[in-house]
Amino acid sequence: MSEEKSLNFIEEIIEEDLKNGKYKSILTRFPPEPNGYLHIGHAKSICLNFGLGIKYNGKTNLRFDDTNPVTEDTEYVDSIKEDIQWLGFNWANEFYASDYFEQLYGFAVKLIEKGLAYVDDSSSEEIAKQKGTPTQPGVRNEFSNRSVEENLQLFADMRAGKYKDGEKVLRAKIDMSSPNMHMRDPLMYRIKHAHHHRTGDAWCIYPMYDFAHGQSDSIENITHSICTLEFIPHRPLYDWCIEKLEIFPSKQYEFARLNLNYTVMSKRKLLQLVNENHVTGWDDPRMPTISGLRRRGYTPESIREFCDKIGVAKRDNLIEFGLLEFCVREDLNRIAHRRMVVFNPIKVIITNYPEGQTETLHSENNPEDPNSGARAIPFSREILIEADDFMEVAPKKYFRLAPGQMVRLKSAYIIKCDEVVKNDDGSIAAIHCSYIPESKSGSDTSGISVKGTLHWVNAADAVEVEVREYDRLFRVENPASEEGDFKEYINPNSLTVVKGYAEPAIQTATLTDRFQFLRKGYYCLDKDSTADKFIFNRTVTLKDAWAKEVKKG
Ligand code: ATP
Ligand code: MG
Repeated sequence: MSEEKSLNFIEEIIEEDLKNGKYKSILTRFPPEPNGYLHIGHAKSICLNFGLGIKYNGKTNLRFDDTNPVTEDTEYVDSIKEDIQWLGFNWANEFYASDYFEQLYGFAVKLIEKGLAYVDDSSSEEIAKQKGTPTQPGVRNEFSNRSVEENLQLFADMRAGKYKDGEKVLRAKIDMSSPNMHMRDPLMYRIKHAHHHRTGDAWCIYPMYDFAHGQSDSIENITHSICTLEFIPHRPLYDWCIEKLEIFPSKQYEFARLNLNYTVMSKRKLLQLVNENHVTGWDDPRMPTISGLRRRGYTPESIREFCDKIGVAKRDNLIEFGLLEFCVREDLNRIAHRRMVVFNPIKVIITNYPEGQTETLHSENNPEDPNSGARAIPFSREILIEADDFMEVAPKKYFRLAPGQMVRLKSAYIIKCDEVVKNDDGSIAAIHCSYIPESKSGSDTSGISVKGTLHWVNAADAVEVEVREYDRLFRVENPASEEGDFKEYINPNSLTVVKGYAEPAIQTATLTDRFQFLRKGYYCLDKDSTADKFIFNRTVTLKDAWAKEVKKG
């Protein structure tokens, strides 16, 4: 089923470029800075860049934008690669901006030789002051008059380690009165005596983003360099560098970054949540990181579908978390194996079922998937049902279990509630029922039709499991835009741990399996599980509880 979809604005540009013969094929890149784990916003960029590469028979590079030695780490490099592959994409080349340090240095020398860059001894405060304001032009200082020779020498001395951090910078010589502040003699290089995760101590000067990014694109012959809207004012500088250096003319295009409600989406903020133990790690199932979503039970298909659904916008907006949940629900409905788990049990004794007997029933793993097979479910005289599925005094139209009423036990028999047996304190000890032997699911000849079907487990071999139920990580839609510290808005009830009793088939669960616990939601095994303790994460409820609340209200 291929639905005709209209092109997004980047696809329109690409189709035009291919039609005009501007490029024979396209080359995009995904350029993460290895200073944190990837989040769902990055997934959007990954799906867009790799998706275009696939759609137009082009290629996509993975380039680590590792020009800031202080915050970067190989742990992040490894996690980023794992996440991209898990999402289902393969890069044509794995590159590092740090591999281009020598070439970038050469580019800087070329600008100096052209009289288009100079070494400035001013402090960052002085430089900021001289820059002016958007309505007031900046002023050039005396360092801008240095000769080419002097600049070449000073820049070489910077590289050689003659100066301390912050003592000198290299600036492009462009236009101190440009209405675009990024064009007012922007910094190209700074001194930083820091160990780099790949180049070690080879360098003590590092290129700024604006000098590294476009040139790296150009070195790789990237045709369409896609980034988010906040880089629009950087584009003139991107083009200026490429033009003055006379190198491959990569072009930058900007789209709206993905923002999701009830979470934060900047690596710096996510790092705070990790470091200050508001979550258990980058892969905490409440995190909007790809590793967190994976652990929560999200599938790559559902994330790709979500990224596809939100499209490529030119204006920033806040997307509902509910849309992501909708996508995972749809996918899990297709693939998840059904299991029965009782969370808050009461005992049902089937008085006309022979004592000591157990029979094996079978139930489809997934009615949506005829190839999913079936699993065995034991049935005997004592079973557990959900306390919520029984009412001693039931209102009209209550189709669950109540004295004198009949229900079907899923994949088993119809039972009738005969008697409620109480403890001394008045609580329910057990519900006595009788079953209809002819009503067995699949071969029902009883002629009885009931309105309610309950999930249940066989008491003797029910497996106790821990279930972690998650809610929104924040209490407010857009914590980053609230007053004060965003962490004040953390939802204190984002995790609830409950017990469940599962049918024995649950014991074969592996970390990649996906389950629907009947009438409850979608779940997956958590990596904290041990040989004798099963821990499940609730990926998402069966229905959108939030949407319901809105309707009710
Ligand atoms: P953060 O602000 O979360 O730290 P970043 O932009 O600094 O993100 P990078 O590692 O530089 O993170 O991002 C790699 C790529 O992913 C960039 O091209 C960036 O534009 C893109 N990207 C980052 N966040 C989003 C987002 N929320 N939506 C879409 N694309 C994003
Ligand atoms: Mg960045």
